[in-house]
Amino acid sequence: MSHFPRARALALALTLALGLPLAAGAAPAARDADLILVNGRILTVDAQDRVVEALAARGGRIVALGSNGQVRARARRDATVIDLHGRTATPGLIDSHAHIAQGGLGVVYQLDLGDASSIADVQARLAARARTLKPGEWLLGLGWDEAKLAEGRYLHAADLDAVVASNPVWLEHTTGHYGVANSVALDLAGVDATTRDPPFGTIDRDASGAPTGVFKEAAGENLVTHLIPPFDVEQTKAGIRASLELMHREGMTAVKDPDISPTEWEAYRALAREGRLDAHVCVLFHTDPDLASADANIARLAALPKPPAAAAENLVACGVKIYMDGSGAARTAWVYKDWYKDGAPETGNSGFPLIEPALYRDMVRRYHAAGIHVGTHAIGDRAIDWVVDTYAAVLKARPDRGVRHAIIHANIPTAHAIETMAALERDFDAGYPETQPPFTWWIGDNYAANLEPERLARLNPYQTYLRSGVRWAAGSDYPITPLPARYGLWASVARETLRGSHGAQPFGTAESVDARTALRAYTIWSAHQLFLERESGSLEPGKSVDVAVWDRDPLAVPTAALKDLSCELTLFRGRVVHRAATSPVTVAAR
Ligand SMILES: [Zn+2]
Ligand SMILES: [Zn+2]
Repeated sequence: MSHFPRARALALALTLALGLPLAAGAAPAARDADLILVNGRILTVDAQDRVVEALAARGGRIVALGSNGQVRARARRDATVIDLHGRTATPGLIDSHAHIAQGGLGVVYQLDLGDASSIADVQARLAARARTLKPGEWLLGLGWDEAKLAEGRYLHAADLDAVVASNPVWLEHTTGHYGVANSVALDLAGVDATTRDPPFGTIDRDASGAPTGVFKEAAGENLVTHLIPPFDVEQTKAGIRASLELMHREGMTAVKDPDISPTEWEAYRALAREGRLDAHVCVLFHTDPDLASADANIARLAALPKPPAAAAENLVACGVKIYMDGSGAARTAWVYKDWYKDGAPETGNSGFPLIEPALYRDMVRRYHAAGIHVGTHAIGDRAIDWVVDTYAAVLKARPDRGVRHAIIHANIPTAHAIETMAALERDFDAGYPETQPPFTWWIGDNYAANLEPERLARLNPYQTYLRSGVRWAAGSDYPITPLPARYGLWASVARETLRGSHGAQPFGTAESVDARTALRAYTIWSAHQLFLERESGSLEPGKSVDVAVWDRDPLAVPTAALKDLSCELTLFRGRVVHRAATSPVTVAAR
């Protein structure tokens, strides 16, 4: 081989690595781009956080980034030209934990109580909805939160009975970890004062021992919600489509949907077959707390391509989700020290695991041996320690890199947990927290009453993660908090609660990060946890043209404005999937 081609090859490799078009002096690049974006401020989120004016693509993939002149020189005569008119573009935002099928079903078929402000408000909505139902038909709602109700207390069966007498009602709490039934539903469930709490769940009771209508954790599923007819594949497809459309309006192009059911999997596959799954979707299958369920998942996943390979267009079967514990809002998560209630210790309540800890460890060992990615829901410090110690044990016994086992939520990790995460990430490419910045906002008023200041300050410890070398993925846990990622960008910086009931910032700001770090968590760091980092999450040659164009620069606006960013254009694989009616951005096909 002569020196010249070698030098050329080296130059090309360098050029690709730098993400720039061929430099002057090299052979002119072919005019091969069928799409260019020009006149922008494009935040690439590459390793150097490079900002460029323009981007060229072919067949939905980036071929070059650079100045307007460099990129225009790559454009074919018939290329589509998107003129950004100075707007800021980012990689499409990624949510590493959003139940978009469940959330979409809520939007399409259920009563949304996320903005209900009082019990009377809830009752008025229930009464209106009940009038549209046949007698006996279930009335389903979701999103209520006692911390957002003027009365500041749980909804009870009696509140529901006052307005709905001939339909069973189930209203799921915003966390999904508890809900309330009316008396018609209690009768159907056969629950009364004599009913015992089932394993891994509690029946909320009044002073006389009678059920109030509130069921927590497994009590909801085992006693009430298993009676509700499930949504079918067609309904689930409609729910997923509603979520995908919301994602596009919000500049979001990839999501991990954890804990899916077989029906949801069928719905995703059908949408993919029909060419209507126009975002990167990575799913985790639901695991029941038993080994048979693990074995069934291992068999199911063995028949599917391993991530990052797609099982269908834009659809990756990433792995499985296991629940270690419950919720911080319900005070059921497994903690070392008792929970607080109304500012004082709730003596004797340190939560509980939702699975036998030894069984959990066995399940993870089995999944790991099969090379399957595990995401474990762990909220309380004691649950998180058990999960990271489990990951450390299975990885020590079988040091396979790259399975990326995750700690979902990881709300109040101990120093030990954070050290272990850092070591697992470094040594095994595993042990990543998949966390939800908007928890401190949307359910922050609820959460703030449930812990003392020392533990509140440890919630979502992003600064400590940075200092300790822990990388995290970000998300919404939709429908637990709203889906738009801009709320999470803001919450990562602001750490303010929705209503400020316990002071505006009961979690303090010592663990806040800047918008640049928050953007990284919602793009390339989340891409990693979707096995998508070679495909999306930053704007670099070879990657998919997944782009969001904003009305303002997220890195230049005051913190409060991050929450109100408006997405003007969203591209997925180079295709326009959202375009705001009023925007200076132009799209011209020649
Ligand atoms: Zn969870
Ligand atoms: Zn979740």
